[in-house]
Amino acid sequence: MKTLIPILGDQLSHQISSLSGQDKSQAVLLMVEVAEEAAYVPHHKAKIAYILSAMRHHAHDLESQGWQVDYVYLDDPQNCGNFTGEIVRAIEKHRPHKIRVTEAGEWRVKAMLDSWGDRFEIPVDIIPDTRFIASHSEFENWATDRKQLRMEFFYREMRRKTGLLMQGDKPEGGQWNYDSENRKPAKRDHQIPKPLHFPPDVLTLDVIDMVTVRFGNHIGRTANFGFAVTRADALRQQAHFLDVALPRFGDYQDAMLTDEPFLWHSILSPYINSGLLDPLELCRNVETRYREGLVPINAAEGFIRQVIGWREYVRGIYWFAGPDYVNRNALGASRPLPDFYWTGKTDMHCMAQSIGQTLDYAYAHHIQRLMITGNFALLAGINPVEVHQWYLAVYADAYEWVELPNTLGMSQFADGGMLASKPYASSGAYINRMSDYCRSCRYDVKQRTGPDACPFNALYWDFVARNAPMLRTNPRMAMPYKNWERMTGADQAALRSNAAKFLETLG
Ligand SMILES: Cc1cc2nc3c(=O)[nH]c(=O)nc-3n(C[C@H](O)[C@H](O)[C@H](O)COP(=O)(O)OP(=O)(O)OC[C@H]3O[C@@H](n4cnc5c(N)ncnc54)[C@H](O)[C@@H]3O)c2cc1C
Ligand code: SF4
Repeated sequence: MKTLIPILGDQLSHQISSLSGQDKSQAVLLMVEVAEEAAYVPHHKAKIAYILSAMRHHAHDLESQGWQVDYVYLDDPQNCGNFTGEIVRAIEKHRPHKIRVTEAGEWRVKAMLDSWGDRFEIPVDIIPDTRFIASHSEFENWATDRKQLRMEFFYREMRRKTGLLMQGDKPEGGQWNYDSENRKPAKRDHQIPKPLHFPPDVLTLDVIDMVTVRFGNHIGRTANFGFAVTRADALRQQAHFLDVALPRFGDYQDAMLTDEPFLWHSILSPYINSGLLDPLELCRNVETRYREGLVPINAAEGFIRQVIGWREYVRGIYWFAGPDYVNRNALGASRPLPDFYWTGKTDMHCMAQSIGQTLDYAYAHHIQRLMITGNFALLAGINPVEVHQWYLAVYADAYEWVELPNTLGMSQFADGGMLASKPYASSGAYINRMSDYCRSCRYDVKQRTGPDACPFNALYWDFVARNAPMLRTNPRMAMPYKNWERMTGADQAALRSNAAKFLETLG
């Protein structure tokens, strides 16, 4: 009476719900390297290498704990290249009496798992994923019938549910949110921490070689590959972050500096999203550091909000909005994604930095994603599906459930305000305030028009003007519209013509 337990590539946790309560002697775990998954968008080579290497290491861990693992390698000549085909082969091979699998993380894979029930003669049990704090029904209950969905209110529910940073029913320190303290620009003379670099072991080097050959035409470089690929190493990076970066995480959360890709960020998202780290356990560790007096409240609260607030909220939105969310385009943006998103070759220093480090590390931190590459795409009116496919391809932590709402909703406002109360649009002034990028740029951030003017400036006002029918009545956009309407007609025309000229250069 065997049970076949497929473990998907983002289920690399010993606590995954499909394993819970199972008899090791009666279970076969199936892990498959699926060509279809690696290539449905041109994923960054380092991302593919990370996921495959983490899967291979996880399979060894599971075996050493006594599980029987049937592992299908990408270059196995019998690998049929898709998961359902591999289930067919596994059923023939192992003759299980049922399949038990933890639910999928995204609509496309959900449809596949749902189809197994009709396709196979044995029962298929799909188990909820318990790695999240809010279940699907909890989010639905919270969201249904609300006039507006806002992260802040959902986040408070998650604080109450987990008890994190709570004193009874009151928030620790008397405030729910310390974001206003978390907007300091960083200086070069700060002691900037570096994340741990894990030199690839033999197994990882093999994977990198295979990826280089098989996915040579994909974006990105593997020369800097230093991801943890085991839970033990991911825990080392977690401890390192708690020790050296967390204390100032809050202060410099929105800061950007030239040639400093990581600053005080945790670089833990690939591990949390693939299952090597547990988000709640991580947050409890952050809280302990605060309670021991080792980190200030703005750091602890800021970090915990990202994980139990934003991360849970975007997952809720992804499932609540349905499979058609990806087709939303509230601002009617249609321009193709410029080539420099794939090469980093542009005179805009902020863009070259953010894209360049993405190619090098499959990583950019939140403000680079939101206020540099995302902001530019928003201002330039790039087709949100192309923007989404880019983000999904280039970051090691990108899975559709978390990437899509962040890109389409938060960054591109393509859902018309379902996720965010206003577009995250800004001129060069914001970038200049939060970074040192403008100092080394060929453009002048202070100029609004002319050949040397920072492109973000004219593009910003062009964005405001062309989207007036949609955004003019948004109370949070009142100030930009007031400023736009105060300008003379000649100024407005000059800004719009500058924007048009620049947009022409994008091809
Ligand atoms: C356009 C865009 C696309 C994004 N795509 C992804 C994605 O594909 N995968 C992904 O995990 N995050 C995504 N994010 C959110 C965020 O940028 C990354 O989680 C973060 O940069 C990861 O780096 P870090 O681990 O150093 O994060 P830190 O700054 O150290 O933050 C700590 C943790 O909080 C969580 N977190 C923070 N912000 C968010 C958020 N907005 N949504 C979900 N989780 C959050 C992550 O788990 C992260 O590891 C995106 C943001 C934007 C604006
Ligand atoms: S001047 Fe403009 S384009 Fe150049 S770095 Fe600053 S914001 Fe970016």
